[in-house]
Amino acid sequence: MEKVVIIGSGPAGLTAGIYTARAALEPLVIAGLQPGGQLTTTSIVENWPGSGPEGIDGNELMTKMRAQAEHMGARFKEGRVTRIEHKADGTFVIHLDEETVHTQTLIAATGASAITLPLPNGAKLMGYGLSTCAVCDGFFYRNKKVAVVGGGDSAMEEASYLAKLAAEVTLIHRRESFRASKTMVDRVQANPKIRIITDTEVVDTLSNSQGLTGIVMRNLKTDVRTDLNVDGLFMAIGHHPNTEFLRGLADMDEKGYLHVKNGTYTNVPGLFAAGDVEDQLYRQAITAAGRGCQAALQVERYLEGHGH
Ligand code: NAP
Repeated sequence: MEKVVIIGSGPAGLTAGIYTARAALEPLVIAGLQPGGQLTTTSIVENWPGSGPEGIDGNELMTKMRAQAEHMGARFKEGRVTRIEHKADGTFVIHLDEETVHTQTLIAATGASAITLPLPNGAKLMGYGLSTCAVCDGFFYRNKKVAVVGGGDSAMEEASYLAKLAAEVTLIHRRESFRASKTMVDRVQANPKIRIITDTEVVDTLSNSQGLTGIVMRNLKTDVRTDLNVDGLFMAIGHHPNTEFLRGLADMDEKGYLHVKNGTYTNVPGLFAAGDVEDQLYRQAITAAGRGCQAALQVERYLEGHGH
């Protein structure tokens, strides 16, 4: 029986790992399908305090965070959690694909995943022209034409990153004003390689046997449809929380974000939530790490209250 199991290995999970390990709770971290979380698909992280004026590579940050957790005594297991069972004695059984783990407490830190547009042939073209990660796939579009959909910070970041590689970048947004921060929008607007199209959505894909060859756009004001020849379409339209495995057990909103109160407590005693699974407002690496710390301290207090 584990004292605490942390599901997820992004900033929230790994910070919880560092803190619970230092509290001698011998945490087990289930690293999940994307070990290191979303930051591993980012390039330079410029807003992680302490990383200096040059920032830090997202992968490097997560590798160091994991090494730090391991050094403190956190253990790691790979695998996908399918279901959580809450036993009558208050403990939990975590069902992974091929095994089960028993624990007294649980920190859900499984983060969020990219949302994709429901495009015709979308699933077939994923990886063959469609992508949700410029840093992962941008290399394949060197000197090619690409488009980015979205109007938030992610879309700005993806467009700026792709502009360094691709021949031409078209940023397509469904409204006239952007959700992204002014600095990021200014950077995109000042980039001569990026063309911005607003009030427009992407409604269809054009493809051949090799993959994507173009997209069909629809102007939302005029209803006019236009084809655009592109080799790649990067979707940066937000994320959904990875909480399916807690459905029916923990309270969540209609989008799947876990309800927490007084910090990281869920409605289930012994189950805590930290990071993008419960935060749809800030969603920053640093805020997720802060929540991981909070969850770890609250687990410690909970276990003390239960005579451990
Ligand atoms: P976001 O802020 O939720 O923006 C999503 C964008 O996609 C919005 O512009 C939205 O349009 C658009 N969108 C959503 N569904 C769509 C659809 N079906 N069709 C077309 N467009 C659609 O998501 P995000 O950009 O991923 O950012 C998430 C969080 O991470 C934010 O808090 C952001 O500040 C943060 N972030 C920070 C950085 C950084 O600081 N370096 C980098 C990346 C992300 P509407 O505007 O019309 O709703």
